[in-house]
Amino acid sequence: MNGLIEEAKRCLNCKVPFCKNKGCPVHTSIPGMIQAYLQEDFDAAGKMLFDNNPLSVVCGTVCDQRKQCEGSCVRGIKGEPVSIGKIERAISRAYFDHVELNCKEKTGKHVAIIGSGPCGITAGLLLGQAGIDVTLYESQEDIGGVLRYGIPDFRLDREIIDGYRAYLEKCGVTVCCNIKVGEDLSLKQIREENDAVILANGLWQPKKLGIPGENLDHVITSVDYLKNPKAYDLCGEVIVIGAGNAAMDVSRCAVRSNAESVVNYVRTNRIKASAHEVAFAKAEGVRIEQGKAPIEFTEEGVWFNCSEYDENNEKTDKPSEKKFYHADWIIVAISQESDGIIKKDCSELLVDDWGLIVTNEEKMTNIEGVFACGDAVTGPKTVVHAVAAAKETVSSVLKYLSE
Ligand SMILES: Cc1cc2nc3c(=O)[nH]c(=O)nc-3n(C[C@H](O)[C@H](O)[C@H](O)COP(=O)(O)OP(=O)(O)OC[C@H]3O[C@@H](n4cnc5c(N)ncnc54)[C@H](O)[C@@H]3O)c2cc1C
Ligand code: SF4
Repeated sequence: MNGLIEEAKRCLNCKVPFCKNKGCPVHTSIPGMIQAYLQEDFDAAGKMLFDNNPLSVVCGTVCDQRKQCEGSCVRGIKGEPVSIGKIERAISRAYFDHVELNCKEKTGKHVAIIGSGPCGITAGLLLGQAGIDVTLYESQEDIGGVLRYGIPDFRLDREIIDGYRAYLEKCGVTVCCNIKVGEDLSLKQIREENDAVILANGLWQPKKLGIPGENLDHVITSVDYLKNPKAYDLCGEVIVIGAGNAAMDVSRCAVRSNAESVVNYVRTNRIKASAHEVAFAKAEGVRIEQGKAPIEFTEEGVWFNCSEYDENNEKTDKPSEKKFYHADWIIVAISQESDGIIKKDCSELLVDDWGLIVTNEEKMTNIEGVFACGDAVTGPKTVVHAVAAAKETVSSVLKYLSE
């Protein structure tokens, strides 16, 4: 705590705080939280954060602050930015055990939310507190979306996600797990039973590389692996394909298994995962090989097309070489797309060429009273972007319900 207070004192309390205005997608009042913290008004700081972003404790932990708030901090121009993430995490974690919910009187309106990831949780908490009767449908056994079934528990404590379930229930949200909308229940029926619906179903179909051997038994996807890493008895040499946060999570889980080696292969020389995740992965023993594009999986391993890239991520003139690397297990972690289940059940729902749900400025789909937000609309983004999208969608839903 002492170190953090010294760190908080480095904040210049800028009149025009770029950290808030430019760096943070939910415009967290960073100087405000730091001043409250310095005045030892920890609850006020925690409440300020939670009321603006109910997932503040998650964001303090998993956001890529170096690209967001800290990346815009003026202290960073000539030195190190203020460690905003660490301060937010400490304040939010302490407050999370005794969050004060402001639940208004019931309005008699009913809203269904499909999906309980960051979007669904945020929308549920905001609508529940606004006096709306909310039913939250989730296809998995428990709530959380990527927070529970993607991000490993050594990065995000499951107690936090359980805490969100308790807070949702406290503000009257009915949580219905193990229900896959589009298969177990139709969107049409849910729409008929509610005054509005929010689709927050994310992206759960692993993208395919489209190369031979992808269906071999020892080739698995990041989606399946991260849902329950212990279900796979990884051993020997593990190859992970991909360059994003999911690939780093897979690699970091794999080094915790019985694997002898974990090597992460990246197609170009650009790594999309956050710098600190890459640093953690390397420190834990993950090797990263760049400029290697997989072209075939076999029983014994992977054939790669190996190329050299320059600092602009352009291929150099050096001819590519075909090389083989042995692998006992191959985990493909390249990205995710829509599984199309809701669209299949409700053909009139407008989606784009990539299967992403199309919404208007008010976040409403082409179906009256059906709104959508999060990765299912934007494609893969981040937790804080999902929170920002859910907040905007809730505003639109409340406006729609009051008309
Ligand atoms: C492995 C991994 C690691 C990541 N790490 C980070 C990170 O460190 N920091 C960061 O900011 N972002 C990270 N991200 C991105 C971030 O988690 C997502 O952008 C965010 O979770 C999107 O939120 P969402 O609510 O839109 O969707 P999701 O989190 O995907 O939640 C959607 C929910 O809907 C449910 N659902 C789907 N279909 C149905 C259906 N038909 N019926 C009922 N329920 C359904 C799903 O089970 C899920 O619970 C990561 C993503 C992945 C995959
Ligand atoms: S930009 Fe940096 S110094 Fe200025 S208010 Fe934000 S955290 Fe403080």
